Amino acid sequence: MMRQYLDIKEANPDCILFFRLGDFYEMFFEDAKTASRELEITLTGRDCGLPERAPMCGVPFHAADNYVARLVEKGYKVAICEQVEDPSASKGIVKRDVVRIVTPGTILEGNTIQEGKNNYIVSITSVNEQYGLSLCDVTTGEWLVTELANTEGEHKLLDELAKFAPVECMLDEVTFTETKLKDTLKDRFNAVVEMIPAHVLDRDLSEKLLLSHFNILSLDGIGLSQHPACILAASSLLNYLKETQKNELSHLSHISYYNVNEFMLLDSSTRRNLELTETLREKKRKGSLLHVLDHTHTAMGARYLRKCVEQPLIHKDAINDRLEATSELKDNVFLREELKDYLNAIYDIERLVGKISYGTCNAKDLIALKQSLGVLPDIYTSLENASSPLLKGLYEKFDLLSDLFERIDVAIIEEPPISLREGGLIKTGYNSDIDELRQIKTHGTNWLCEVEAKEKEKTGIKNLKIKYNKVFGYFLEVTNSYSNLVPDYFIRKQTLSNCERYITEDLKTIEEKILGADEKLQALEYTLFTELRDFIASHMDRLLRMSGVIASLDMLCSLATAAEVNNYVKPLIDDSDCIDIQDGRHPVVENIIGHHQFIANDVYLDQADHQINLITGPNMAGKSTFMRQTALIVLMAQIGSFVPATSAHIGVVDRIFTRVGASDDLASGQSTFMVEMMEVSNILHHATQKSLLILDEIGRGTSTIDGLSIAWAIIEHIANPNKLGAKTLFATHYHELTELADTIPSLKNYCIQVKEMGETIIFLHKIIPGSVDHSYGIQVANLAGLPKEVLDRAHEIMDSIEQASSRDLRDVVQTSSKTVPLIETAKQIAVEPVVSAVPEQLDLFVSHTESEIVKTLENLDIMDITPLQAMQILYDLKKKI
Ligand code: ADP
Repeated sequence: MMRQYLDIKEANPDCILFFRLGDFYEMFFEDAKTASRELEITLTGRDCGLPERAPMCGVPFHAADNYVARLVEKGYKVAICEQVEDPSASKGIVKRDVVRIVTPGTILEGNTIQEGKNNYIVSITSVNEQYGLSLCDVTTGEWLVTELANTEGEHKLLDELAKFAPVECMLDEVTFTETKLKDTLKDRFNAVVEMIPAHVLDRDLSEKLLLSHFNILSLDGIGLSQHPACILAASSLLNYLKETQKNELSHLSHISYYNVNEFMLLDSSTRRNLELTETLREKKRKGSLLHVLDHTHTAMGARYLRKCVEQPLIHKDAINDRLEATSELKDNVFLREELKDYLNAIYDIERLVGKISYGTCNAKDLIALKQSLGVLPDIYTSLENASSPLLKGLYEKFDLLSDLFERIDVAIIEEPPISLREGGLIKTGYNSDIDELRQIKTHGTNWLCEVEAKEKEKTGIKNLKIKYNKVFGYFLEVTNSYSNLVPDYFIRKQTLSNCERYITEDLKTIEEKILGADEKLQALEYTLFTELRDFIASHMDRLLRMSGVIASLDMLCSLATAAEVNNYVKPLIDDSDCIDIQDGRHPVVENIIGHHQFIANDVYLDQADHQINLITGPNMAGKSTFMRQTALIVLMAQIGSFVPATSAHIGVVDRIFTRVGASDDLASGQSTFMVEMMEVSNILHHATQKSLLILDEIGRGTSTIDGLSIAWAIIEHIANPNKLGAKTLFATHYHELTELADTIPSLKNYCIQVKEMGETIIFLHKIIPGSVDHSYGIQVANLAGLPKEVLDRAHEIMDSIEQASSRDLRDVVQTSSKTVPLIETAKQIAVEPVVSAVPEQLDLFVSHTESEIVKTLENLDIMDITPLQAMQILYDLKKKI
């Protein structure tokens, strides 16, 4: 047996091998050590014909799923090795083989499989100038493929992958072995990465594999013949799945080619910054846009909504179709409420179909499917009078699937057990053999009662009882007090301390009938169940198509509910170059602080006069909130959602770029400023006139003059219609930039109102035209609770700098020689042509002690003291330093 084990292990060296022995899966050697450490199970040993005992540990087979899932979540691959022949029919050691390899991207159950989220595995290849990407969610049967230019490096690839956050990535060995992509994928997505061996990447073999899987004659049939990189990506993925899953993968019956340009392009940092599906810092769903919009009732709807949020549309008509459907469902409360009730009753059809075609479903799953199909006629009737094109389209696509419903309904009882091997699954009337065997079982009980009564009477043993156990079957039990009444024809089976157990010829005959019936019944019920399961699996395409319809409907209902609950309006979408939002609100912040607390703001952008809005205002005034809300409103509108505003007119944008705050790429060893400049560079290279740019505090990471100059040049570049001309919101601390409005007619200045109240300030969060020339930094620091002495000192320094710009420099030199460099710097900056205000990052080295020393010296009349006093004063001053 150990030889068998070692052979199988050798064929699967990168997996932890779960080796089936009786009711346990056992692990040996290094696998045992790893598993015992990771799963906290006891490590033992076993003689294995080697000089030393083999380290070993095991888990019971019925609880194995949970252990497998835990190992896979920790990034291991687990190979499940079963007995593959009937032990009673085999001579010598039972044949065993690996029946499935479980990996993060192929796991079907466990904590990583979340209801509202897909679990993607991706294969990435490269042919000529194209990357091929193929993505699959094994649990739902969704299989996608696309390609994108590889000429721009890997960042575009990463942006595309960010939509899917794959848990397992396979990389073309020929292209990616030398690159950093492997590490980046591990860091970015916490993904397990495998290499695709070069021999798998053969074009002819790949074509053949796909043709035979889809049972087609030409790749035109699946739209891939013109996409060589896609062919390799799809086939290498299929090859890997076949190798690991060891089944036909019949539920992967459909592959969809999608064009990356069909959707709004969002780079990874914009996705993170806008907190589309999770928050930036805590990575939580609560606090994200998805959380606000998600009122779905089915897992399929939840996953589809997530996809829509990840991929906003860019075609006006498609957006308007969605908006119309959302609008109809919002206005027709009755329809929406009705649909909500029906959708609530629908289970995860997509994942049930996955389990059915994998053969891992049980009878309860079929009942769940039946209940889900049971509401389809109601939904169909509800949609009968729908008027928006999208809802009408869904109505027309409807397949009631009543044939499948009925097949399950007549066959499977309403509350079946989980186990498939112990009977009790099939309804009476479905199969005459089943009914007959059940009759025998019921009669059997009567027969037993009759035997018991007859023998009691015959022998006079009053407490004679017929009992059953697995070892002896049925027997008559006689307590010791009646042992003298036992007749000859009782055959002794077992003696216990207080009783004896017997059988009789009669009892034996009945037992054979009953036990035989039970065994036959269980086997027959199992066979009928698998027949039904295979029948349902053969209609998988229809089921998946309907689950798509349900997902769309649920997603649209969710957008309608979000619009209703949050008081959103329908945006006007066209191909103009304008963004005109009245009383816009931040969808997430308003939910957190309360609708009435949130101050709504307008925004207007167009190509001609309002291409760039330059926003000044102190920290905490609400600049970032305002800019993000604008990006989110545009994005929501392009998803097909209503938006938080009183009115919104949005010319479709092709991309949204954001450069906001410190990036979390700091871990990669690059300085904040470097990361900032790389992001800006990406924006300037890839934005178009149709893009929306959100730029917050560009240039903050370097010295004032550098930062200001860079920000200045960037604005000029963006404003130039021959170079970029993208609509832009630009927040800055550099008040000097507001002067650009004089030279760039399409740049407009805005600021955020604050009210001064003595030492402190109140943020009014209201955007108004114009600019502020005051940063209120010290007031904000005060609100943040900085120690009073630090604040006082900051005031002192600020006063001296401000005075310096108006006073003669020599006066200052006389008062304090030490402050000269500071003032000089201030002066220098003041005479720079573009810069008129005080720098933020001056070298503030004049300490409180030093100014005290200066003061003492100033007040000292040297002619009025003795040499000894002079010595003493010098001594005291020195002590202060
Ligand atoms: P800034 O970018 O100017 O430093 P933020 O946009 O980060 O400021 O806003 C700071 C805080 O002010 C936010 O956390 C939010 O709670 C509040 N805030 C911002 N804008 C508004 C608004 N329009 N209405 C109400 N509160 C707001």
